[in-house]
Amino acid sequence: MQVLIFGNDLLKQKAKPIINIGPEYIKIAEDLLEILRSQKGIGLAGPQIGLMERIFATDISGDEPRIFINPSIVETSQETLKYEEGCLSIPGIYTDVIRPKTIKIQAWNEKGRPFNLETGGVLARVILHEYDHLEGILFIDRISEDRRNRIIEKFGKKKINEGGRH
Ligand code: ZN
Repeated sequence: MQVLIFGNDLLKQKAKPIINIGPEYIKIAEDLLEILRSQKGIGLAGPQIGLMERIFATDISGDEPRIFINPSIVETSQETLKYEEGCLSIPGIYTDVIRPKTIKIQAWNEKGRPFNLETGGVLARVILHEYDHLEGILFIDRISEDRRNRIIEKFGKKKINEGGRH
């Protein structure tokens, strides 16, 4: 399985709710976490590997690996935070994004068990970023058009340069 790269249309599509969290999701969860580790990422959503279902994984240092299925963001803090984000689907690009500082989320894990989580810091940031992937939203959709255009231009050039080297 490969991580889809910016420009792929699936990254702009909304993922579908998972109707039945069957035993196959244990394997899907393992796959997501394995890809995440191999790419040295901290979050990966289904649509990034072409799985158009509402599932994502997080694996940040100091926290256990987590799987979120059919998540809903129940509450977000009024207080926001500027923090530099990157994305496995837009490799090499990092930029500051403003998002709520803390969140409350409700979801199911890969065993079909529901859970609630209230968190802040990097985990809240990753969750919000991954949740966006389920909505077909990328982190560069959350910045000004000017900055986005510059990033897209830079990313395009980078891809051409890298392509030229092979
Ligand atoms: Zn991402």
